[in-house]
This record gives sequence, structure tokens and C-alpha cells, in this order.
Amino acid sequence: MTPYSDVLIVGAGPAGLSLAISLAQAGFTATVVEQQPESALAHPAPDGREIALTHPSRATLQRLGTWAQLADDEVGTIDEAQVHDGPLGHHSALQLSAPRHHRGPTDHALGFIVPNHALRRSAYAVAARMAGVRILAGAQVTRVSVGAQAEVDCTTASDGTAPATTKRLFAPLLVAADSRFSATRRQLGIGAQMTDFGRTIIVCRMRHALPHGGVAHECFGYERTLAVLPLPDASNAAQGGYPLCSVVVTASADDAATLMALSSESFAAQVQAQFNARLGPMALQGERHAYPLVATYAHRFAGHRCALLGDAAVGMHPVTAHGYNLGLAGVDRLTAALVAARQQGQDIGREESLAPYARAHHGHAWPLYQGTNAIVRLYTDPRPVPRLMRQWVLQGARRLPPLQAAIVGQLTGQPPRWVRALAPR
Ligand SMILES: Cc1cc2nc3c(=O)[nH]c(=O)nc-3n(C[C@H](O)[C@H](O)[C@H](O)COP(=O)(O)OP(=O)(O)OC[C@H]3O[C@@H](n4cnc5c(N)ncnc54)[C@H](O)[C@@H]3O)c2cc1C
Repeated sequence: MTPYSDVLIVGAGPAGLSLAISLAQAGFTATVVEQQPESALAHPAPDGREIALTHPSRATLQRLGTWAQLADDEVGTIDEAQVHDGPLGHHSALQLSAPRHHRGPTDHALGFIVPNHALRRSAYAVAARMAGVRILAGAQVTRVSVGAQAEVDCTTASDGTAPATTKRLFAPLLVAADSRFSATRRQLGIGAQMTDFGRTIIVCRMRHALPHGGVAHECFGYERTLAVLPLPDASNAAQGGYPLCSVVVTASADDAATLMALSSESFAAQVQAQFNARLGPMALQGERHAYPLVATYAHRFAGHRCALLGDAAVGMHPVTAHGYNLGLAGVDRLTAALVAARQQGQDIGREESLAPYARAHHGHAWPLYQGTNAIVRLYTDPRPVPRLMRQWVLQGARRLPPLQAAIVGQLTGQPPRWVRALAPR
């Protein structure tokens, strides 16, 4: 059977599209199969997510050519992060900022922040015009199997005039990038550890009276967790000069349903109160979006003729903002593994060819996944002992400059020497 392309990718989310571009840059051909129609890929609707990106992630997006597709007012910087235990101002905060030597006129930030829909749009814009990338939109993958080749059945829906059609595609390698609830992963027989936190995250944009100064706040309240992230001010003048931020509220499912049902004004008043009016009066801008909080970690990241990428491999809790950053690290690693296999004259779909990707990605992702889940458990437990423990943890971290340097190094891609010495080679 003639292969359709070198690699079949299920899912044209930001991870799947980024991989397609990266593979095409390396001289492979890639076909991306996506259930959403072409119009939704070209003009994705805002989904409330503002994605905090590290310096290494920006470097990957620059290499892919998608960073250059973002408008100026879509790229913000996070200059400092403050972590508060309990209501704002109760205890002194842990403060993180990029070290002085890392500061330059254009590279001063701890990290960057970009709307998810802009990341999706820019990835599609580059992938759609790239030789070597084929995108089959409006086609849902209904069956996958792996044998002598990887095989995918995809079905286009009937549109009233044309009947539904099913197409069968073959390739040496199949990559599942179809979200944390990946049906492809399941059909490949790969299980996943799932943690349902029983909580819901609400994301939205808000205008506020006082400048945010580029500072991101994470406030671990006892019932609700609130994050306030600075957004770029380019559209400021058009909005009467009021700065903009992204608000992320994590609450129990019941409490979140109540918050979603509140009027815009009552919702804004609640956020403003939880933030101790630090940014002055606040007003909701646009829609609120709610996501159930379920973290997933696949039992393995690769096998015979298949690999998992993005959220299909690791679906992180968003509190530590690692999800897409991990997805991009996976794009770099998987591309490198396939290039190495080709250089050695190996079949790119062999399990041995994919093992370096699976090993390195697990080594990177597992501590972040476990660490994030431990933080979430500690900081959402209102009992007295965990409360005390979290105060110790924050105070300890405040008194440990090397730990702060390690966290900052993770974001800026410049880890201190002692962390580099511990990293696996
Ligand atoms: C509230 C929130 C805040 C976040 N904040 C951050 C942050 O600050 N920093 C960060 O790094 N990450 C963050 N993340 C995580 C980030 O959004 C995800 O890691 C990233 O979007 C995952 O991309 P993906 O391409 O793997 O999956 P998705 O974006 O889920 O894309 C999967 C695609 O597969 C398609 N698909 C599914 N099934 C099929 C099928 N059977 N056939 C064909 N197509 C299919 C879907 O239509 C979809 O287009 C956040 C997430 C949330 C929810």
C-alpha cells in the first residue's frame, strides 16, 4: 500500500499543527486529520485561554515561523510573578522575576502570554501553505490500527448535498494529538492515568482601573484559587485607557456553576473582592469560559508505529501553565528522534526509533506533572494542617533563593548551574 505521507497526525490543535510544520521543515511529509471544518481552523474563536509561554517555547515558535504571524497586541510579557497564600495581602508573597543578567531591551520577561486562539490561527496559517503538509479538515478519525503500516479511517460528515464519505490513509507513523481525552490513544490500546480534581476552571478577560505592571498573581484562596495575568495594552486607547488582564478562577463544580450564572457585574465584584481591589474597579470583558479540571498522563508516549503528542500525551492542570510548553518541547523532541532515525537509515515507525522521544519526554514531563498535582492538592485543601504546610512551603521557598532561581530558570530556559548538573544527559 502506498503511504499517504511519512506521518499521519490526528488533531490540528496547536500541538499537531506545530509538529506538521516542524516535520516539513526537516524534510518529511505530514498529513493532519482534523474533525473541525477549515473555517474553524483558519479563524478559531476565542476560548478564554491565555497561554503563558516560556523562552524556550517562544524560540520553538520562532523557528516554526508561527511567532511572526502573531499581531503585536496578541503578545504580552510577564515581568514578575507573585504567589500568595490565602487572600491577597494576608501573608507576604513569593516573588519571581527574571535575573538582572537576563534583562535586555527586548528580552526582559519572565515569560510571554498569547491567546490560545491566536496560537491556533498562526499555526494553521503557516501549516496550510507549507509544502509537505496536507490538512484534511472536517474529517473525523473513526478507526486507527497499527501493523505493517499505521492505518487511519476518517469520515467527512454529510453536508446535505454530498453524502458522508470514509477515507483510509496509511503511513509509517501515526501521531495522536487529539486532546487529553484522545480517542486515538484509547484505540491504540494505550491507557492513561486520569485525575479528576472535581473542580472547574473559569477563564475570562477583565478591564481594570490601575496598571498591572506586567505582574502575574496566583492567589491560593481557601475555597477558590484566583490567578490574574497581565495582558498587552495595545488596544488600551480604544478601551478608554483601561488595562486588561486574564482572570482564572478555580472553584468546586457547584461554586463554578453559580459564578457562571452571575451577572457580569456581580461576577466582576466577586473577583475584585477576592483580589482585594489591588487593580481598582474591575469589569468583565467578553465571555466567561468554563473547563472541567481533569489531568491525564499516558502510560507510554510511543509504541510500534505510533507516538502521542501534546495533551494526548500529558494533559496538565493549568495552574503551573506547563501544558502547551510541554507540547512544544515534545514537537522538538519527536522531530529530533525522527531525523536521527532517518540519518541512521531506520524505519521512523519502529518502536526503537521513537524510544528516545518517549524516554526524554517522560523524564521532562513526569516531575512537572507530579509536582503540579501535589501543589494543587496542597493548595486546595482547606484543613488546618495542609493550610499550615502551604505557609511553610511558601515561606521556605521565599528564603531559598536557589529554589527561586531554579523556577525562573525553567521559564527562561537559563537554569542555574546546579540544576544543569542534575539534569539527565
Ligand atoms: C484554562 C486553561 C489554561 C491553560 N493555560 C496554559 C498556559 O498558560 N500555558 C500552557 O503552556 N498551557 C496552558 N494550557 C494548556 C493548553 O491549552 C493545551 O496544552 C494545548 O491547547 C493542547 O493542545 P493540543 O494540540 O495537544 O490539543 P487540543 O488543543 O485539544 O487539540 C486537539 C485537536 O484534535 C481534534 N480532534 C479530536 N478528536 C479528533 C478525531 N477523532 N478526529 C479528528 N480530529 C480530532 C480536536 O478537534 C482538536 O482540534 C491551558 C489549558 C486550559 C484549559
